[in-house]
Amino acid sequence: MQTTRRDFLATAGAAAGVAAAPSTAHADEADHDRQAVPSDPTLRVKALESLLVEKGLVDRAALDALVDLFEHKIGPRNGARVVARAWADPDYKRRLLADANGAIAELGYTGQQGEHMVVVENTPGVHNVVVCTLCSCYPWPTLGLPPVWYKSAAYRSRAVIDPRGVLKELGVELSEDVEVRVWDSTAEIRYLVLPERPAGTEGMTEDALAALVTRDSMIGTGHALAPGARA
Ligand code: FE
Repeated sequence: MQTTRRDFLATAGAAAGVAAAPSTAHADEADHDRQAVPSDPTLRVKALESLLVEKGLVDRAALDALVDLFEHKIGPRNGARVVARAWADPDYKRRLLADANGAIAELGYTGQQGEHMVVVENTPGVHNVVVCTLCSCYPWPTLGLPPVWYKSAAYRSRAVIDPRGVLKELGVELSEDVEVRVWDSTAEIRYLVLPERPAGTEGMTEDALAALVTRDSMIGTGHALAPGARA
């Protein structure tokens, strides 16, 4: 689950014989994820990146920084704004749960891969978690690009078979009386989890609340941060 983008591309290249000398560690990772044959787009990306680096046109570190920006900063910060508004404004929350597209568009977040949104609310009795069992469907306008683990075969299969086990491994321990609902994203519908508002956040501004909303809490594989905690 902690595979970095760089490791993932190296694994993909090694499995396809693109890399000159695949390391044992990478081969093990490929076995672990049961994805010995990388997807065609992955191979093309790897080939393009290798060429561009070889010709001195791009810098690997710059590429990683760019992807990190979209994975961790720009995308999920939009979703965090939506969640913070829902926590702070009960009328907005009602609209969000009834018509997610309309409410999310109120904050200016629209576009490709976010055309048909559904927001599911976590409560003390219900914990929602999102997966795409088929591929990697994900709400781009609110969460940005999906993390590598979200696209992994391990997460896609195990999130459905053993959601409690997966959540526990990711640090989300739920008591037996909490119902776990797994939502399978598709090309038609993308889900966003509205995490529970942390205790001790009464009177906080929307900006301060948004800072507590992590990407994983909106996928359902984490909780929102407690005030004072750091992501
Ligand atoms: Fe998908």
